[in-house]
Amino acid sequence: MIKKKKVIDEIYIPDVGSQVELIDGKEYLITNDAMYTFFRRTKGEFSAFFLALKNEKRLLGCKCTKCGIVRVPPFLTHCPDCNFAPTEMIEVEQVGIMNSTPPITYFATSLFQHMAPYGRGRVIFKGADTAMSINLYTTTGILVPGIITKGTEVKLIFRDERIGEMTDVFCVPAVELAQEKINKNGLQESEIDWETPQEPLLPVASEEDSNQYRKALDEMKALIEDMNRNESARKAIAGWKRGIQVKTRGGQFAIMIDDGDIKLTESVVSSPDFIMVCDDIHTLLDGLAYRGAITDSVINKKIWISKNMEFNTIFKLDRMARFLVRSKKV
Ligand SMILES: [Zn+2]
Repeated sequence: MIKKKKVIDEIYIPDVGSQVELIDGKEYLITNDAMYTFFRRTKGEFSAFFLALKNEKRLLGCKCTKCGIVRVPPFLTHCPDCNFAPTEMIEVEQVGIMNSTPPITYFATSLFQHMAPYGRGRVIFKGADTAMSINLYTTTGILVPGIITKGTEVKLIFRDERIGEMTDVFCVPAVELAQEKINKNGLQESEIDWETPQEPLLPVASEEDSNQYRKALDEMKALIEDMNRNESARKAIAGWKRGIQVKTRGGQFAIMIDDGDIKLTESVVSSPDFIMVCDDIHTLLDGLAYRGAITDSVINKKIWISKNMEFNTIFKLDRMARFLVRSKKV
């Protein structure tokens, strides 16, 4: 038998399995895994559904020719309840009701990280009898529990660039859109206003609030200067550039991140990348000092950010806090 030469030489292909490596007297388990591979697959009988999403911005379901049940997505060509009577493709409406309260994914695997934070829940679209799993977003800033719950009316939104996948579409609460947008079929993400979320209002500061603010701000300044001088902390924001306007009860300031540099300035930034509203400045101070994560404060609604996708930046601030504390321990 002739052994065919592989495209990738054997010596470059690691053994699948694990081994133990000893570092400073401690055992570490090392596992060889494959990251991913490429493959072709067909959407088969689902092709019409995905082509309708991609090319026509229409949502299709299948209707049983006997009992009339409408399933969305159209995952059956024959109805199991009616002795396998054939189903036919029909179009359903692009507004629906949440069938359940969606859990929110803040920390996704690398495959889905570019989409997080996102909600994932099931929607019954008007004209359908079954629920469809879909990603959920909000235009009101960071996606937190309570914005979308069971029973919330949602609107189907199409990505501007579509390839014929479930990720071509997502939903936002209908209440966030003008009626004409709700009525429009094939509404695209670029037709929605993502830039003017409603900022939470802050209570008026008392003299005590202002005093506390000044004290905390001085502490934060010192901490951020520490971060700026710390090599490990700087690594967490390498290649990252953001201007963050921070509003608290006692006053406002800005945190500027510029490829490893971080600084706190008391001036108002003319066009910040995003706005952070944090009633009590100590919530942010504690996070930067590594006394509780800032990401947790965002999820728990103690800190609000104006752009959902900037959760990523919050995550980097947490890493800076962690790196700074760790490097000081050594
Ligand atoms: Zn049927």
